[in-house]
Amino acid sequence: ERVFLISIQPLQSESGIFLVHFKDQSETRRIDRMRADFIANASHELRTPLASISGFIETLRGPAKDDAKARENFLQIMQAQTARMARLIDDLLSLSRIEMKPHTRPQQKVELGGLLSGLLETMSHLAKDYNVAINFTPPDAPIVVAGDRDELIQVFSNLLENACKYGQQGERVEVSLKVGRGTGPEATICFRDFGPGIAEEHIPRLTERFYRVDVEKSRVRNGTGLGLAIVKHILTRHAGRLTIHSTPGEGSTFCVHLPLS
Ligand code: ADP
Repeated sequence: ERVFLISIQPLQSESGIFLVHFKDQSETRRIDRMRADFIANASHELRTPLASISGFIETLRGPAKDDAKARENFLQIMQAQTARMARLIDDLLSLSRIEMKPHTRPQQKVELGGLLSGLLETMSHLAKDYNVAINFTPPDAPIVVAGDRDELIQVFSNLLENACKYGQQGERVEVSLKVGRGTGPEATICFRDFGPGIAEEHIPRLTERFYRVDVEKSRVRNGTGLGLAIVKHILTRHAGRLTIHSTPGEGSTFCVHLPLS
């Protein structure tokens, strides 16, 4: 749908000739709509745990007032819901912080093999939490890209966490780092899982904010629906891209491509 703003102006008074201006407003409208959608989604996501907390407070002050067991149970649920809200706010802040940064590529020199090895060590608890084996063999030679170290760590942690969360329990998650070729030489970092995979129609939409294939599954696994949106934003700033390959029933591979410096 295209939207035009039309204005008509006489070219010269009395001449009977008019100038008609067409201004294409489609893009502005699209951005306005996206912003409104985002605010509605974010509010809804924050309201859900809030409504549940509020309901439990009411029950604790009323029917469950003298029930010690119910109290403990409800307090636990309320704690989980506040943690959920905190996660959501952290992700929303990350997203807006990245959006406010300039669109030029950050220039720290980042050696990816060392960065990934360190990250896998700090996140090794994921293997236990989700019962997966995480494999990674660092390359022999250093692979260096220009970027922002912390932002790249955020990209890789989000993808690693997703591979563990949505992968197959008792199976492995493979992390790889290679030099490949896109439009020029690039570093390719892939996260492969052997989970249920993703149906093709969902793949192009995964990096949209709050888009989730299975909302319940994401919620149970502490998801916010913002992880891949954050990944996409950071990669755009790094002149990089994300590719996703998935075969339902066999697993998914999420790869980050970063031009070499
Ligand atoms: P979430 O916080 O829900 O995990 P993300 O933005 O990280 O949000 O991912 C969006 C959705 O993409 C997830 O809810 C999930 O449905 C799907 N997804 C992401 N990674 C995988 C994966 N490795 N395997 C299957 N589905 C995935």
